[in-house]
Amino acid sequence: MTQVDAQTSERPTRLMGTRGSQLAYAIRDFLQRSDVPFEWIELSSDDEAREKAKVGGLRDGRLPVCVLPDGTRLECPTIRQIIEKLGWFRDPSRKEYDLAILGGGPAGLSAAVYGASEGLKTVLIERWVVGGQAGTTSRIENYLGFPDGVSGADLAQRARDQACKFGAEILLLREGVRAEFQTGKLVGYLADGTKIVMHAGVCATGVEYRRLGLPSEERFYGSGVYYGAGVSEASLCVNEDVYVVGGGNSAGQAALHFANFARKVFMVIRGDGLKETVSQYLIDRIKSSPKIEVLTHTEVTELLGDSMLEAITLTNNQSAEKRTVKTTNLFLCLGGVPNTHWADEAGVICDEQRYLVTGPDLRQYEAPDKRWPLDRAPYYLETSQPGLFAAGDVRHNSVKRCASAVGEGAMAVTFVHRYLANQ
Ligand SMILES: Cc1cc2nc3c(=O)[nH]c(=O)nc-3n(C[C@H](O)[C@H](O)[C@H](O)COP(=O)(O)OP(=O)(O)OC[C@H]3O[C@@H](n4cnc5c(N)ncnc54)[C@H](O)[C@@H]3O)c2cc1C
Repeated sequence: MTQVDAQTSERPTRLMGTRGSQLAYAIRDFLQRSDVPFEWIELSSDDEAREKAKVGGLRDGRLPVCVLPDGTRLECPTIRQIIEKLGWFRDPSRKEYDLAILGGGPAGLSAAVYGASEGLKTVLIERWVVGGQAGTTSRIENYLGFPDGVSGADLAQRARDQACKFGAEILLLREGVRAEFQTGKLVGYLADGTKIVMHAGVCATGVEYRRLGLPSEERFYGSGVYYGAGVSEASLCVNEDVYVVGGGNSAGQAALHFANFARKVFMVIRGDGLKETVSQYLIDRIKSSPKIEVLTHTEVTELLGDSMLEAITLTNNQSAEKRTVKTTNLFLCLGGVPNTHWADEAGVICDEQRYLVTGPDLRQYEAPDKRWPLDRAPYYLETSQPGLFAAGDVRHNSVKRCASAVGEGAMAVTFVHRYLANQ
């Protein structure tokens, strides 16, 4: 848990703002996932805003205000400004890298640790903060070596420190948008125009949450509607009703975490139970928690509210019966779609669901205009572009687990060495 008790901790970062502020949520989410201790101070009156945040009132455009441990005051800051103040924003230091990794989740971080520790000039590019999906969960209990579990943010920051210790460069808030392949080199383009030249690449861009697809969903995002387990929000749900949508392990974990704070947690699932989709140890805990209720055959069909989510409509998908319930806390854990928007233009083969196809599976997906181009067979994690590897959840047929993502990140580096040795 990153949010701190102001009584017991020395000068954490302080964030002051109003309930429902999307920017305040983005900052909380960023600080939580980055494992930066912070105190959230919710302002509920003009007097409080004047007294605590030193602004004119609740509607003052300078909110939210972020005060860093060294006393720096940032008014209505961007995440980039915060990252710069923390000293985490950097430009690439080299013109060329042996290895560039796209995505800073478990797979990408693992590739960075192994690449850099094995002497490759390594850069990792991450569009948000390190940790990926794993960074959004309060407790990973099945990761080897952590019998009491480990928070995703903690695991991610340890991996980041480890990669940096070995000399990997980590570029945060940078999004890879395009790739080109030249003889012996790959060129990646970032959204801000930066060009990264590499001899080999690992794509570890994972998946991103599915949307419900309802009107107002974007409007309420960060203001009552959240994607993922909402670790930064859990302690703000004390004595409130929380709705978690989804029937997978991530939804189960989220429900259990919210049960520590909320009055009641409702798990909304389309099917008739959790048995097929949730691990037994989580089912046992969900069943034994008096605070969690599983609403089967139920779907969220409407989001209601003015500036913030106030209520949702639940529809029974068997009887079509509808009911509207009040809540300001809707967490969507709906599984993901792979982050491979750039792959088509780059000529990289994907499967029907847009996952990157690698190694022996390529044969099945080859088309006249998209084929493996070399005489040698592709390495196990190699995509249809020689020298570009895929690791973790973004890969066709991958096991969606931290341990396997970490394993594939390490494996990909072994294949990078083989590829570079043959160049
Ligand atoms: C709530 C939750 C709980 C979970 N709990 C467990 C658990 O207990 N045990 C377990 O084993 N697994 C768990 N999982 C699954 C596990 O987290 C994933 O399998 C794992 O994170 C996959 O790692 P990855 O590196 O392949 O991808 P991801 O974690 O998805 O990371 C991909 C990264 O790439 C970045 N990215 C995407 N596109 C770009 C781009 N164009 N440019 C730059 N960066 C980009 C993303 O921002 C992200 O940081 C959980 C997942 C969730 C969502």
